[in-house]
Amino acid sequence: TTEHPLAKWNTPEIEDRNQRILQRPPSLKISGMHKSFGHDGKMVKVLNDIDFTAYKREFVCVVGPSGCGKSTLARLIAGLETYEEGVISINDEVVSGPGPDRGMVFQSYSLFPWLTVKKNVMFGLVENGMSEISAEAEALQWIDLVGLERFANSYPHQLSGGMKQRVAIIRALANKPKVLLMDEPFSALDPKNRLKMQKYLLEIWKNIDITIFFITHDLEEAIYLADRILVLKAHPGEVVETLNVPLPRPRKEDTFLSEEFLATKAYLESLV
Ligand code: ADP
Ligand code: MG
Repeated sequence: TTEHPLAKWNTPEIEDRNQRILQRPPSLKISGMHKSFGHDGKMVKVLNDIDFTAYKREFVCVVGPSGCGKSTLARLIAGLETYEEGVISINDEVVSGPGPDRGMVFQSYSLFPWLTVKKNVMFGLVENGMSEISAEAEALQWIDLVGLERFANSYPHQLSGGMKQRVAIIRALANKPKVLLMDEPFSALDPKNRLKMQKYLLEIWKNIDITIFFITHDLEEAIYLADRILVLKAHPGEVVETLNVPLPRPRKEDTFLSEEFLATKAYLESLV
């Protein structure tokens, strides 16, 4: 057996962090997942035998080439797709179909354009039976948390891309999901706003009890955000690696970590 290309970065600190994560209870568990789409009268396999467990409060990033099934995987975890075989559980409870234990954020924001920021955040709360008054108070707290208090009564079209994405995130989080599924949420943002949103997300994630399953095609983003990176290949989508990310989160501009960062990125590039 050959040594793992990143073995030299596998310090005791990283080992220790990983052991601590693996000792937490499972949060999102996918087992034996098979998914095909019908195509020209025959079935095309998109996901083949996916097994993966994210532990409580873990930040998982999913990378892989276009068409490898990342969005399909997120959608079926969210309960928005059927599948031939497989089991999905959240906190050890098998789920089928959508539920409030999973929140989802898309690249396209998917805010309700006819509702104000406040009403967008309140929507799910009221839907789940909360009174208008409590929902409004709760929504305003979330809006404060991401610094949008001045925009509570604005409409989505009056906001920048980064602001819309902040609303999409708090709208999902307000429903207190156990797992937040994010499908390329920052891909439409310019680099400056993307970095700002990444920092926002890490800040939020540190302060609440949530497991994040974050899809991106940006390897640097994955290295920056994730505890672990799930790497998929295409045709059919299969897991080729689950990579523990070095600590502390390295960024290209942090020159003292650049060697480690580049080694991690080069390794991921060799896989995708
Ligand atoms: P990714 O997000 O990794 O780019 P997707 O999950 O969007 O990949 O798609 C994986 C594969 O499944 C692609 O080949 C895509 O064309 C196919 N696919 C996705 N959704 C559908 C659908 N609703 N019907 C048929 N094929 C689909
Ligand atoms: Mg996709």
